[in-house]
Amino acid sequence: MTHPTITFHGAAGGVTGSCFLVRHAGGVLLVDCGMFQGSKSVQELNYRDFPFDPTDVSVLLLTHAHIDHSGLIPKLYRHGFAGQVVTTRGTADLLTFMLPDSGFIQESEVRRLNRRNRQRGGREVEPIYTQADAERVLSRIRPVDRDVWINVEPGVRARFWDAGHILGSASIELEIQGDDGPQRILFSGDIGPGDKPFHGNPEGPARPDWLVVESTYGGRDRPLVTAAERRAQLGAELKEALALGGPVLIPAFAVERTQELLYDLDLLFDEGVLPTVNVFLDSPLAIHVTRVFDRHLPEINTAGTPAPFSRRNLHLTEDVEASKRLNRITGEAIIIAASGMCEAGRIRHHLKNNLWRQSATVLLVGYQAPATLGRLLQEGVAAVRIHGEEVQVRARIRTLDTYSGHADRGHLLRWTLDRLPVSGGIFVVHGEEQERATLKGGLAEAGIDPAKIHIPALDSQWQLTGLGARTVEATTAPRAVTAARDWHNDYAATMLALSEKVRAEKDDAAREALLARVKAALG
Ligand SMILES: [Zn+2]
Repeated sequence: MTHPTITFHGAAGGVTGSCFLVRHAGGVLLVDCGMFQGSKSVQELNYRDFPFDPTDVSVLLLTHAHIDHSGLIPKLYRHGFAGQVVTTRGTADLLTFMLPDSGFIQESEVRRLNRRNRQRGGREVEPIYTQADAERVLSRIRPVDRDVWINVEPGVRARFWDAGHILGSASIELEIQGDDGPQRILFSGDIGPGDKPFHGNPEGPARPDWLVVESTYGGRDRPLVTAAERRAQLGAELKEALALGGPVLIPAFAVERTQELLYDLDLLFDEGVLPTVNVFLDSPLAIHVTRVFDRHLPEINTAGTPAPFSRRNLHLTEDVEASKRLNRITGEAIIIAASGMCEAGRIRHHLKNNLWRQSATVLLVGYQAPATLGRLLQEGVAAVRIHGEEVQVRARIRTLDTYSGHADRGHLLRWTLDRLPVSGGIFVVHGEEQERATLKGGLAEAGIDPAKIHIPALDSQWQLTGLGARTVEATTAPRAVTAARDWHNDYAATMLALSEKVRAEKDDAAREALLARVKAALG
């Protein structure tokens, strides 16, 4: 008798790169195919071959549009996948803009990298996929409704549940026919925290046989805040920042976070909490996505604020020239630009232009993965390198984590316990190791047999048997990754420390002596 297996090809040992491969008697399917984000070593995984044969996979089920869940879909097609992407209507609408944008980013990053490689005599690299690759994917997306069973391939049905995380987000319930009757596996996707302007609270079925649950904030309890309290906190932060007379930079995720901020800003301006300063939404992707939200607004925002995305002081800077003009802004203004962890996009230009200003504020409103520029700023580094240039950090760096789109520890426990009983076992994924361990501890404390709670390693394969989950001996070596800082971060830090030391010496002779000592040490 063959048992189905799950192989954890991403979001295992880290948060990003969600990709779960399910083998069953009738075939092979994937849940999510996300991009790895974080340190350069982690990102390097995106360039390598898939650890499975994409031509074996007959269908891809997608939980939501975030790039760490969807970002390698065009690569999957490039490497021979020929099936459909089954997902909700909201996610399908978002992908229309997000995948081509991701392709555009891949192309421009690689162009920049190759320019540098040529200067240094290094090897040139190819983009993971192009904008054109991403556009070709769009016709292969099959949008489906939530809450109803969908036949996805012979012997397999799927049902999408509202995950309350972003527009279109879903948990996916799979039902696989086997010799002993059907087995049901529930993939949580990313779970939202509840009390959000554009969603209901996360839902899900009870009694799945198997549960794969995220743990992004599995180790953290955040104070419970209502939508109104969250807005008041934003108002207070911005008031304080604007009082310094400088610009406020908000690195924001283009999807959901940006629209939530605009929604709350609209109310804060109307209520007179904030002076009506100019708000620039400086991200073509965020602008497109905001238009998708505007279209879905009647169905997602039942509480209702009329037209939150069209105000006279809200400026959508779509083209590059308009974006460049924002460099001249030194006074009070709010600039919202992607990307959320400051790893790409226009925010890096704004940071380069403003980080050295004491009057400027950077307001971080989302999760910052280890080793990203956003995380370094959050950790209080004195200087950073952006586009190969060194920039001193004198701006105020503030974090407001109440806008998180993720459930905290308490919410994740509640959501998981609401699914009980889970007869087969629970896999904790999509979290840094500490978060996974803490969530597992919480579930065990709540009475779940710890032997049934698994923390799968990257690329590990698990057989789902009637007696519980068993790891399967790997036929290929699992990929090793360092999720934390890697040598690229150390290199940047060392270069910054050296340049600081050199500048701090009392005169040129002392500088030359210092450099001679460094050269001698290098041998
Ligand atoms: Zn997500």
